[in-house]
Amino acid sequence: MKKGEPNLMEDRKVKVRIAPSPTGDPHVGTAYIGLFNYAFAKHNGGKFILRIEDTDRTRYSETSEQQIFDAMKWLGLNYEEGPDVGGPCGPYRQSERMGMYAKYAEQLVEKGEAYYCFCTQERLKALRERQEAMHQAPGYDGHCRKLTKEEVEDLKKKNIPYTIRLKMPYDGQTIVKDKLRGDIAFDNSGIDDQVLLKSDGFPTYHLANIVDDHLMGITDVIRAEEWIASTPKHVQLYKAFGWQEPNWYHMPLLRNADKTKISKRKNPVSLNYYREEGYLKEGMLNFLALMGWSMEGEKEIFTLDEMVKEFTFDRISLGGPVFDLVKLAWVNNHHMRLKPVKELAELARPFYEKLYDLSGLKEEKFERIVEIIREGAHTLKELAKLSDISSLYFSNFCLNKSIAF
Ligand code: GLU
Repeated sequence: MKKGEPNLMEDRKVKVRIAPSPTGDPHVGTAYIGLFNYAFAKHNGGKFILRIEDTDRTRYSETSEQQIFDAMKWLGLNYEEGPDVGGPCGPYRQSERMGMYAKYAEQLVEKGEAYYCFCTQERLKALRERQEAMHQAPGYDGHCRKLTKEEVEDLKKKNIPYTIRLKMPYDGQTIVKDKLRGDIAFDNSGIDDQVLLKSDGFPTYHLANIVDDHLMGITDVIRAEEWIASTPKHVQLYKAFGWQEPNWYHMPLLRNADKTKISKRKNPVSLNYYREEGYLKEGMLNFLALMGWSMEGEKEIFTLDEMVKEFTFDRISLGGPVFDLVKLAWVNNHHMRLKPVKELAELARPFYEKLYDLSGLKEEKFERIVEIIREGAHTLKELAKLSDISSLYFSNFCLNKSIAF
């Protein structure tokens, strides 16, 4: 933006999104990023929306999409626009927007910002092998960037398949203005001419993501650190289209105890797992918030509403947060103790019913048991289990069905 030019983004109402790809169980990382988007939007009176990025059909799973919706609802991270709730900028599934991306790629070709690439897989493979052998960084060599208009027309007439690539500047730098990390400079010479449109006419993640963020009016992109490397391409794409880029925030990645990126080999990562174990949504959200943010006065136990009220990006810490299950259990225990007993008993009932026959037990007595036992329990599952071991009072009233743990 030039000096003196109005910053349109500053004047626009905050609108943020999560854009998960439905490829497996709903991931704790989606909830973590969703939480920060939600808190920022709500704190600023803005909108939080959900878009499904399902252009990679080989990895798509329908149940996974539904599970993302359910997990967000369970946590109370309610989005105002999305595939299952609708909204003015739909459709919110990229697979239903397929028809619109090619037009934008063609637009960039017309503007001279992108070009047709007719290179075959064989040529690209040979190029990669040559670069490897010569210990050069891998990347497209710009072969088709030099084609004349006539040559392009000729190849198109011959129905040679093509992709569309972005023309990256040969020299200079691209600056990613990250609101959490300051300016991050990338040498343009090290960035490939990114494919925007594949030969089957499908967009790549980069094109679809930017076109959709623009069309959906996204003002702030809050996503995980792992996307930083893609961001200079995104900045260049915004420039090529002549669109105002959003504000960028790259949140620290959740990590295993050994500091590697969180993975299911070392940690349960599915939100379903935590729900089935009997973690409360309040505990889960509070814990995820603590992974990247702290509340004024270092208060550790808080609700979503309290977070929304106090949320600013000033209190984000960028150190790699370790997904510590002991801490999660501790936070969850606090929320179990804070919850009105009636509500907790209602949530705990299915966990008890898996172990005991509650039919002879009066509601009041059940609530009393829950109230006594919750002090030492970290999850609803543990609450039910501990009731059997430590409550004589309880065992007087119930027939022990089985212990499934
Ligand atoms: N589809 C990407 C993902 O799976 C979205 C990344 C972004 O937020 O731009 O996380």
